Amino acid sequence: TDQELFPRAIAAAFRATDLEAQRRPEGITVEEQAPVNGKLSDYLSIKFPIHDDAGHVYATGVIATDITELKRLQHELRGLAERDELTDSYNRRMLFEIGACEVRGARRYDYPLSVMMFDLDLFKQINDTHGHAAGDQVLKGFAGLITSELRKHDTFGRIGGEEFALILPHTPAENALLLGNRIQQQLAHCRVLADNGAVMQVTTSIGISQLYPEQADFEDLLQSADSALYQAKVEGRNCIRMFRRL
Ligand code: GH3
Ligand code: MG
Ligand code: MG
Repeated sequence: TDQELFPRAIAAAFRATDLEAQRRPEGITVEEQAPVNGKLSDYLSIKFPIHDDAGHVYATGVIATDITELKRLQHELRGLAERDELTDSYNRRMLFEIGACEVRGARRYDYPLSVMMFDLDLFKQINDTHGHAAGDQVLKGFAGLITSELRKHDTFGRIGGEEFALILPHTPAENALLLGNRIQQQLAHCRVLADNGAVMQVTTSIGISQLYPEQADFEDLLQSADSALYQAKVEGRNCIRMFRRL
């Protein structure tokens, strides 16, 4: 029996869907996992009731197809579609998709939402001095540092080049500022070792905007953060500016 073959929790889950299938003349289709030969495999199972001559259900029929490889591919493809290859942070498309969603959520449930935009300072110099591959290492290191600071519902992604954005639900601009300061402090202590042995350091300018009623959508919010970022660049780089409404 399943109880003899599988761990208790998995056997119980099988039993539950077996019984559910018995209640449905048309049967059910479920995705299930089971350890087979020591490794967890994914199955697509079609389960259906089996009747005796009197029409009473006395068993469940199951046709299970191993879809482990399919699931692995699906996971890999989703990663490719949603993530930036170099930094493994969200790509631009996902950033805008999640951003739009967050703006709707913040408006509906009336909580503060902030967006932080980063543009690494004088990044071209890093490439010019140490080479493009070294620049890539710095981008990776930067993304890793931010990712280690994230809470569960924060979203970090690469807008393009050396520009990144961080979406912070349930966060007023003042709290985003505290986080921004912390990130800049940590970055100040970070060194990235290039393959040629050179020790590299980078700073970032930051622009922050909270979501305001007059902003139409996520693009508008990001635009506000971007204009604050521009101010940070103009005012000397390696600093944070907040978007101020007129
Ligand atoms: P600023 O402080 O004004 O932002 O100066 P900057 O040098 O960072 O600004 P600029 O926009 O002139 O340069 C950005 C550089 O980022 C230029 C480009 O070659 C580099 N870059 C963009 N994408 C990548 C990438 O994926 N890898 C590497 N290594 N460099 C990149
Ligand atoms: Mg730039
Ligand atoms: Mg830059």
